[in-house]
Amino acid sequence: MRFESVKQLRRTILPRVAAAHADLDARMVAVPSVCGAGCDACCYQMVSTHTWEEELIGGYIEGTMHAGTRVQVRRQLVAWWRHLKSILRPVSKANPLTLADVQMLTQYMIDNRVMCPFLVDHQCSIYPVRPAMCRAHVVAADPGRCTTEPGRVGEPIGGRNMLDTFGAESPHMPYEMYPHAYKPLAFAMTGALGVPAPSTPMMAITLGDIMPARPD
Ligand code: SF4
Repeated sequence: MRFESVKQLRRTILPRVAAAHADLDARMVAVPSVCGAGCDACCYQMVSTHTWEEELIGGYIEGTMHAGTRVQVRRQLVAWWRHLKSILRPVSKANPLTLADVQMLTQYMIDNRVMCPFLVDHQCSIYPVRPAMCRAHVVAADPGRCTTEPGRVGEPIGGRNMLDTFGAESPHMPYEMYPHAYKPLAFAMTGALGVPAPSTPMMAITLGDIMPARPD
């Protein structure tokens, strides 16, 4: 399927991704969890977002997020990129980050407890539209371990629920309609926040000729 405009793209995929989120949330309600409001222990790492969620989160940032919050998130995202540049080899559009670079970066963010740029005053600034990865991450016991074990893995059922609602067999997201891929959230939202990004990793892999690309 080819979209003529971002408006048409959003009109088509937003209801579907919202339905996938609702489905995932309903499944997660049944998962035993000790996670509670006010805990941000798992927000000190790099999370990724599904291609279909990009439009939802981007639209929320542009149209719903409080202007003051947007300024703060943008500031945090700029600082996040500065941090990233200080630890990585030079990258450019012609010489982008590879999957291996991103995996190394992911581990670095965990080891050094680098804060997600969307966390503001210990709360998620995009909570209603937060990525499936965040929705599916819960722990069933010992919440204190989350502060002493950076990158603590969540309950496996969360991953399975995510696959059911966002994976290849998802009833909400037909493969032929739009690309399925994951990108780091901080990379995906540079456009919505007007932050220049020197690299868009994995774009070449995920938005190849066989899939419809996002319209300019
Ligand atoms: S998107 Fe929100 S919930 Fe997910 S890691 Fe960032 S601040 Fe935390």
